[in-house]
Amino acid sequence: MELDAVSIEQRDGADPLARLRQLFSIPDGIIYLDGNSLGALPKNVSAVLASAVEEQWGKSLIKGWNCHGWIDLPSKVGNRIAKLVGADDGTLICADSTSLNVFKVLATAIKMRPERKVILSDTGNFPTDLYMAQGLKELTGGDIELRLVAPEEVEAALDETVAVMMLTEVDYRTGRKHDMKALTEKAHSVGALAMWDLCHSAGAFPVHLKEAKADFAVGCSYKYLNGGPGAPAFVYVAPEHQSHSGNPLTGWMGHDAPFAFDLGYTPSAKTDQMRVGTPQVLAMTALDASLDVFDETSLEALQGKSIELSELFISEVKRRCPNLELASPIDPLERGSQVSFRHEQGYAVMQALIDRGVIGDFRAPNIIRFGFAPLYLSFAEVYKAAEILEEIIAGDLWDKPEYHQKSKVT
Ligand SMILES: *Cc1c(COP(=O)(O)O)cnc(C)c1O
Repeated sequence: MELDAVSIEQRDGADPLARLRQLFSIPDGIIYLDGNSLGALPKNVSAVLASAVEEQWGKSLIKGWNCHGWIDLPSKVGNRIAKLVGADDGTLICADSTSLNVFKVLATAIKMRPERKVILSDTGNFPTDLYMAQGLKELTGGDIELRLVAPEEVEAALDETVAVMMLTEVDYRTGRKHDMKALTEKAHSVGALAMWDLCHSAGAFPVHLKEAKADFAVGCSYKYLNGGPGAPAFVYVAPEHQSHSGNPLTGWMGHDAPFAFDLGYTPSAKTDQMRVGTPQVLAMTALDASLDVFDETSLEALQGKSIELSELFISEVKRRCPNLELASPIDPLERGSQVSFRHEQGYAVMQALIDRGVIGDFRAPNIIRFGFAPLYLSFAEVYKAAEILEEIIAGDLWDKPEYHQKSKVT
């Protein structure tokens, strides 16, 4: 045992990314395995945000739109995110929430395939994506069909009735990763468009939107991108679709000339057409600052460390808690940056972990989920988390009334 702990310490000592931890503010005694739900706070954000409030808003007032470039934040921050997901400058903007962006993209895609009615998705998709598709279907008088298949059946279900394939690259429960390039190619071969949700991808590992020829993508920035609670999301439109202006939320910021104040709507011919209303300047400023840490490393390096951390966790948990069933793919290249296990009392097990300073999360019905954010996690922490999990499982320490008490957010 001692030997193990020593060799783990040596691994941290030899880790070239270990220096990045100091860029984050993480409370002492907390092992944070939930960066896939809400990324930790990069230390530089507080000062940038305080200055945006006091110096920019406080002193420049309305002039800030021009003199501090507030108006261009959606494209400025969008271009920084574009680099992290393999997209060209000018093809991605920061705006709204992922849910809203799903709606905008689906409506656009449906408009681009007027003779088709099917949105194809899978049962592993995140519910909000499916709910937005259901809302769009209601709005069109039920004219659209949302067709759901099991994740492994998506490829076979792609046929010439499908207008758009809507998938999330990494399954939020199991971490299972779709093959973006192969499925996009198959979608195109039947004339369908491909929309990818990158909520659990962006900032965790390399994504190649352009190379995969994705038509559209959406994603959020408060998970691996560390943009802060409720940080604005992003939306990508492939260059060849830039002029298709199908966004049904025709707000003034998506207009070709918002400050001409025309009475009629003329969409911008650029990705800006996906903008709706006034950008969330303070939230976007915080996100902009949080992205600085990505200038310090590469997504390839982050993925490499994420794989090492998750492999260590899986092997330790397997050894210490042999009865816990792994819910994630065993091949690290087939999963995102998270590892999940099944336990019928998963909620209580997670509360017991959190009570002991190990923060992960629970996903109904029985998933305990651990995210590995390689920017700020150490091997020693992952090792320690497995040790604490073993104590909880071996001693049934989860079986306390307070650990069964459900909160509003799980
Ligand atoms: C986290 C997440 C969302 C969240 O959407 P919001 O509109 O930001 O609440 C959407 N889709 C997926 C796949 C997610 O993981």
